[in-house]
Amino acid sequence: MDYLVRGKFVVTMQPRYGSHGVIRDGAVAVSGRDVVEVGRYRDLKSSYPAAAVVGSSRYWVVPGFVNAHQHGKGLTDFQLGGLDDCFEISRFGGDPRAGVDSYLDVLYACKTMIESGITTCLHYNSSRSPDTYEADVDERLRAYRDSGMRVSFGLDIRDRNHIVYGDDEFLASLPRSLREQAAERYGASRTAGPDDYFRAARRLGDEMGGDSDRTRLFLTPAGPQWCTEDLLRAIRGEATERGLGIQIHVLETRYQRSYFLREYGKSAVQWLAELDFLAPDVSLAHGVWLNRDDIATTAAKGAAVVHNPSSNLRLRSGIAPLMHFHAAGVRLGMGLDSSPLNDRPDMLQEMRLAANLQRIPGAGPGLMPLADIFRAATAGGAEVLGWGATCGALEPGSRADLVLVDSRPIVEPYLASHQTPVEALVYRGGAGAVDTVMVDGEILYRGGKHVRLDETALLKEVKRKITPAPRRKPRGLEGRLLPRVRDFLESREEHPVEPFYKFNDAG
Ligand SMILES: [Zn+2]
Repeated sequence: MDYLVRGKFVVTMQPRYGSHGVIRDGAVAVSGRDVVEVGRYRDLKSSYPAAAVVGSSRYWVVPGFVNAHQHGKGLTDFQLGGLDDCFEISRFGGDPRAGVDSYLDVLYACKTMIESGITTCLHYNSSRSPDTYEADVDERLRAYRDSGMRVSFGLDIRDRNHIVYGDDEFLASLPRSLREQAAERYGASRTAGPDDYFRAARRLGDEMGGDSDRTRLFLTPAGPQWCTEDLLRAIRGEATERGLGIQIHVLETRYQRSYFLREYGKSAVQWLAELDFLAPDVSLAHGVWLNRDDIATTAAKGAAVVHNPSSNLRLRSGIAPLMHFHAAGVRLGMGLDSSPLNDRPDMLQEMRLAANLQRIPGAGPGLMPLADIFRAATAGGAEVLGWGATCGALEPGSRADLVLVDSRPIVEPYLASHQTPVEALVYRGGAGAVDTVMVDGEILYRGGKHVRLDETALLKEVKRKITPAPRRKPRGLEGRLLPRVRDFLESREEHPVEPFYKFNDAG
């Protein structure tokens, strides 16, 4: 036995240890990369007296957090000069990441994720150009491998609506000179075309996902409004044939909702269902604008939703109907979308935000229990990202992906003893309390210090290699296009909204 990871509480996620799966004065016995046993520390210590003890009664042991949707941005868009805006507007602006090295950016992202106790993530690749597509993918994948994190690595692709939802109509509305410049600058895809895409997917699929590999391949088409029917059918076929997972941005924004109602007379979810795209291997990132029928369809197809509440606030997307997802039995994960509320990763804070955003006015029933939010950010996310029972829970046979949380900031100077550890983590925990992080039985971070990554060298390299993005010129092409994009989007909002949640009254 290599380690006994010890804590005042061990949150296993196993129902046989009660509704929160907690063992008091417990430990996790780790051999190689596997959890061999969980139980009382005293019992395990006498079974495995030679194992190195990590932790003490000051710590709580929890499964590693799963960030089920993010884009591998180490430095945030704000750090690189951007400001939050409505999603369609911010993605339309200049690319603040242009001056950042692909490998270092992702490695830095891994560093900050590990510091917040994230052991597994989905990387939703964001391409820079078709010319560098494969090289960027290889560099980013190399960064995850070097970091030691577990990753479901998603290959992105899009083949329509590169500027806004309804490119032809939008371009036709512009004066000629502006139209030509806009089409030239923004009209082409930044991703590989389908042939190159599937070639890359097959190559990577063969290289990834071995038994000892902490990476697995995902297909991540950008979204239904950015992908043609033919492309999505091809991706669906490829995923089924090769046993790959799919994640797709779906109904993140109000404008995506109206695009589908206008163009197809139905919601994006119904459109995807009719393509036979939705299945248990598919997760929908965001789902803010899913309606009642969409939620029922998602649940019936066994597809999952990954909830990204911080990003949805920052990018003015809205508040996803989390408790309706939960009530309908939709499988759930949680993600930071590289836009966490405090501009640095913190899954415990994200759980707290998710919990508080569902507290809509009034005394109505139906709130999603905190333990289920915690589950979405651990075992639920692991399952959504295709890892099944490999990680996300602490049980014999699972991989040792776990976190030691320092309980002092949570319980000092006093915490009523009947508060459960899971609820205390969601109320009072945060990235700052993360002490030790283990993936696959390997300690990546201990006592607040990186073990595998050379933090000093990484920071130095990141600073050295950044090329600052130029400031946007208000009278440049972007400045002239932005008001037109806003008008175009707003002028097409003819379908009335009947919200799930009512926050105030203008009447
Ligand atoms: Zn995203």
